[in-house]
Amino acid sequence: MDFAATKALFHLPKGVIYLDGNSLGPLPKAAAARIARAVGDEWGEMLITGWNMAGWMAQPRALGDRIGRLVGAPPGYTVIGDTLSVKVYQALAAALALRPGRKVILSDTGNFPSDLYMAEGLIEGFGRGHVLKTVDPEEVATQIGEDVAVLMLTEVDYRTGRMHDMARLTARAHAAGALTVWDLAHSAGAIPVDLTGAKADFAVGCTYKYLNAGPGAPAFIYVAPEHADTVRPALSGWLGHDAPFAFEPHYRPGTGIERMRVGTPPVLQMAALEAALDIWDGVDMSALRARSIELTELFIAEVDAACPSLTLNSPRDPALRGSQVALRHPEAYAVMQALIARGVIGDFRAPDNLRFGFTPLYIGAAEVRRAVRILADILDNRLWDVTAYKTRATVT
Ligand SMILES: *Cc1c(COP(=O)(O)O)cnc(C)c1O
Repeated sequence: MDFAATKALFHLPKGVIYLDGNSLGPLPKAAAARIARAVGDEWGEMLITGWNMAGWMAQPRALGDRIGRLVGAPPGYTVIGDTLSVKVYQALAAALALRPGRKVILSDTGNFPSDLYMAEGLIEGFGRGHVLKTVDPEEVATQIGEDVAVLMLTEVDYRTGRMHDMARLTARAHAAGALTVWDLAHSAGAIPVDLTGAKADFAVGCTYKYLNAGPGAPAFIYVAPEHADTVRPALSGWLGHDAPFAFEPHYRPGTGIERMRVGTPPVLQMAALEAALDIWDGVDMSALRARSIELTELFIAEVDAACPSLTLNSPRDPALRGSQVALRHPEAYAVMQALIARGVIGDFRAPDNLRFGFTPLYIGAAEVRRAVRILADILDNRLWDVTAYKTRATVT
């Protein structure tokens, strides 16, 4: 893998070291022209005929398959659309319907709040007495009892980067008669994922983080082949209907993964996703993982040496860590604002985490070293200790 070549494919603002591609990936240079084409040549010139002529209607499946390759899904079982929160709801509802006698959704306390909120809302809406049980991440394996309908987990913890063992936990869930919903928000494009090998039942993820498809880019959903033709979609929108343009009065689910579509796909955002995936088509995930581990190991070693006031809040063992590193500091928010002012962009995650994402496609060892030098300078000289850096913005 030539990571200098992939770096040249991104627009990275001058003077910025971008360690937040785990939250919002940077702009692939080709995306601007691809979006302009979708606007001018397609929307502008083709108008409504673009749905057929430019292939807009077929894009959610085509793009889904290109993401599927990155997460070990066979072609034909991944589709894009909506936002990740919506896809979590869809996957969870479908899984619960396949286990009608069971009432427990098991998750962990480190899961991303939106996933847990969606489960809470779904339980209330269903009104069938389901319960959401959250346990410590380390205890999940021992808590998968015969009452569990669905094990719903995010593979890589959004704060700490701690990784669950997808294959092992899925096997445990299946042995207990439960199904699995895996959230790949911090996995897709970050680590090798093998949904087929792990025998995952459902998986969801987003495309604006490591996949670099831009703010508001659609999510994806995977349904394993053995469930794809039997699941009953809870969000029964017209584009998941077997014959959307027959305009029938009642819902009939489409074939396989088609039924996980809901409504009109975001055409302009799909153009950005298409350009972003052109880069991913050439990426070897095992080479990317090796480089990612080199970068996170380097970062941790440099922080250990230069920043004694920070504590590592990520697993020290790289085999248990995704592509991000969290460091704790009592004034983490102010420290991050001071860092951003110096051109090192990471983010703050409550209550006291500085979070940094490492993305080999455009970040190398020189940037990691420089980022830690700036971080050490800010801490050594208390440059974070000014009022302006302590006032919280809406998005942290
Ligand atoms: C980023 C993220 C989300 C965000 O969901 P959206 O609907 O795209 O806003 C949800 N779940 C996890 C685990 C995430 O990391």
